[in-house]
Amino acid sequence: MFASLATRIAAIGAIIILALVSLAGLLADASHQTRESFRQVKHSAAVIETTEEALGDLRDAESGQRGFVLTHNPAYARSFDQRVASAVANIDQVVRLTSDNPLQHTRAREIASLMKQRATILRRPLDLGQRGDFAGALAVIASGKGHDLMDALTVRIQGFLEDEHALQTARGEAADQRLSRSKWTSMAGAAVVALIVLVAFALFIRGIRRPIDAMMAAMTDLGSGQGNARIEGGMGSREFNRMARGYNAMADRLELAIVDQRRSEGKLHLANAELHTNAEALRERGDVIELLGGMAHRMQAARTDDELAQVIRVFVPKVLPELPGVLYAHNNSRNLLIPIAGWGGLDTGDDGFAPDQCWALRRGRSHCLVEPGDDIVCGHVKDGEAYHCEPLLAGGEVIGVLYLHGQIGAEHRFRLTVLTENIASALVNHRLQRSLREQTIRDPLTGLFNRRYMEEALTLEIARSSRSGAPLSLVMCDVDHFKRFNDEFGHDAGDAVLQAVAAEMRSRFRDGDVVCRFGGEEFTIIAPGTTAEALMNRVEMVRQAITEISVRQQGRTLGAISMSFGIATWSDTMARDGSTLIQAADAALYDAKRGGRNMALISRLAA
Ligand code: GH3
Ligand code: MG
Ligand code: MG
Repeated sequence: MFASLATRIAAIGAIIILALVSLAGLLADASHQTRESFRQVKHSAAVIETTEEALGDLRDAESGQRGFVLTHNPAYARSFDQRVASAVANIDQVVRLTSDNPLQHTRAREIASLMKQRATILRRPLDLGQRGDFAGALAVIASGKGHDLMDALTVRIQGFLEDEHALQTARGEAADQRLSRSKWTSMAGAAVVALIVLVAFALFIRGIRRPIDAMMAAMTDLGSGQGNARIEGGMGSREFNRMARGYNAMADRLELAIVDQRRSEGKLHLANAELHTNAEALRERGDVIELLGGMAHRMQAARTDDELAQVIRVFVPKVLPELPGVLYAHNNSRNLLIPIAGWGGLDTGDDGFAPDQCWALRRGRSHCLVEPGDDIVCGHVKDGEAYHCEPLLAGGEVIGVLYLHGQIGAEHRFRLTVLTENIASALVNHRLQRSLREQTIRDPLTGLFNRRYMEEALTLEIARSSRSGAPLSLVMCDVDHFKRFNDEFGHDAGDAVLQAVAAEMRSRFRDGDVVCRFGGEEFTIIAPGTTAEALMNRVEMVRQAITEISVRQQGRTLGAISMSFGIATWSDTMARDGSTLIQAADAALYDAKRGGRNMALISRLAA
């Protein structure tokens, strides 16, 4: 019934109101009784006073009558009737006033009767005196009848008044008692009400204190970070139970929200870390790409294989630090992997290896040995230590292999991939450029340098020779009766003769000599660091070798081949563009032709 806090407050209020109403009722009753007692006291006083007034009036009437009779002065008798009337009226009033008290009422009526009798007796001497019979009047008075009546009346009135006084006193005491009782009743009532209010509030406060303490404890715990702080058990009232349920629900949601937030923070942290790692990876990749861009740019600009090797030696260790290695590329005939460049202590001293000696080339994918004995070791690898072979692919074709001594970590995979792609494309590019350059300086039929290249090379060599003082010689040579090959066996046969002669010369002259096709069946050899005389031996050897060439074409032997040679040595007197030197050698060649062909002659212009 009192499960609700509101009901309890209402009950306490009702108890207080009831106590106050009871107290007010008690006080009102006490007040009423007291007022009644005082009214009765007042009533007795009125009875006494009116009786005494009636007696006084009667005595005044008697006194006036006596005065008139004795003095004959009518002034004494003038108020007689008025006094008698007043005495009668007053005693009648007393009779009415005592109607609530049967005993006093009876006595009052007797007194009234006696008073009226006395008034009648008093009137006779007065009437006699007024008629002038004062003696008769005195006689009546002297008879004493009226005096006796008056005594009897006085005695009755005294008794009546004594009783009335006693009654008045008793009523006064009763009123006092009631007043005193009311005082104590009100004090006791107030104390009882105060006690009730105190007890009710104490119980009420005790009833709400426990749940409030429980809630405050839970809230303090929650506030200090204990997410699992809950209000347990009954709270003693419907309202506090609802508050506890509400608080617990809020704490549940808060706990979930905190878990959610922590989860989100964790995810955010991970995402941040990932972002950071990605940014790092991107930055690193950017650095690698920039590095490789620089490498690719230099590789493209490299003119020679040596320059290419230098670029590789500088850049690859930057991209893959602490990993010695060698870059191998296919030779032209694709039957050998030739070392292009080595770094980190590995040199390119070896002559290369056959493609089938490398498992990376065989499979067309990376091949590595992480631990000795855990995989097949490539034939070209000397030791059994960890290594990595990465094939270089360009346009779907394997063009070489990158050999690395050591193990590639996962973090260097990207670097390796981009590096090999860059090297492969740069290598292809370099080769393409080299081939284009070759085409501009080489004669396509014989593979020898062309005339344009010969003229440039000659100018360079003349400048070098004039600077160093080293001798420089030039050979002009021409196939004897070449026209006949064309005429007898056809143009292709002539071409075959030219190719055979060119190959012979290229193999017979020194590496430093520049063998060129001057045009048609004429050839020029620039021989730096040698004089015409010193060169003559080699030219003779070549001339001899050419005569021994036997060219077969379409199943036919083309017949003997011979060549005539003119040799000249450069001198300061000659033009620096080489024209005079060419003319000198050409003149010697002309002499050799005229001299019977298949011979070598030194220019007569030679110093
Ligand atoms: P000589 O002994 O006086 O030098 O006589 P020759 O026949 O060699 O000289 P000639 O100048 O009369 O003939 C050269 C010929 O070479 C003429 C030309 O048709 C031919 N010729 C020039 N270039 C080529 C070539 O690239 N291929 C072929 N098959 N023939 C060529
Ligand atoms: Mg000729
Ligand atoms: Mg000729």
